[in-house]
Amino acid sequence: MQIQKNKKLAKRNNKHRYLLRGLLYCALCGRSMTAYARTSKRKTGDDVIYYYYSCISKESSSYALNGTPCTCRRIPVDDLDSAVWEFIISIAKNNSQLKDYLYSKNNLTYSKEISYLNNLQLELKKKQMNTMRWYHENTIDYETAEKALKNINSELETIHTTLSELTISQEKENQLVLSPADFLKAKTFKEKRNVLTKLPYRVYAARQEEHFEFFFER
Ligand SMILES: [Zn+2]
Repeated sequence: MQIQKNKKLAKRNNKHRYLLRGLLYCALCGRSMTAYARTSKRKTGDDVIYYYYSCISKESSSYALNGTPCTCRRIPVDDLDSAVWEFIISIAKNNSQLKDYLYSKNNLTYSKEISYLNNLQLELKKKQMNTMRWYHENTIDYETAEKALKNINSELETIHTTLSELTISQEKENQLVLSPADFLKAKTFKEKRNVLTKLPYRVYAARQEEHFEFFFER
């Protein structure tokens, strides 16, 4: 009888969906917040399960700061999940505002660096051609030409490697960029999780007394 009961409970626990699992951090201490279920007895004797997000320093002593757990209070999962999702949808409805949120600043840096290196590459290729022309015109001797070409080639090689690394990083960044429509389209838990996990932000939350607050940070 007891075993049967536990089994049922575990099944229900697993079924509960935590929208922000793995994406949530404690706004007070910066540690991750963990999702968990707690069972209490009702006066009638029935079990009632509460679902919470909690600062990991409260739940695991090895994460406590100098042996003291964080003062952040546990936040009910459904309250925080729906508040965060509603906030995201309100931003998604304002197209340009969400784009500001989503477009990575890094991406701009990549573009600048990539175009700088592309120009440098062109310059070096010109230099390479000039060197060969000068050698054929006998303006410079073989030794000078060979030395110059060797340097140019090694510079070109470095630039080529850097460019391909930067391009890969930039493509990765671009994949993170979501469109507001992706958020507005997401209706099921799975769809919501899918867009949330692609969001290039962490969600920080804290509860003081009966209020909770949250904010997004990269
Ligand atoms: Zn904390």
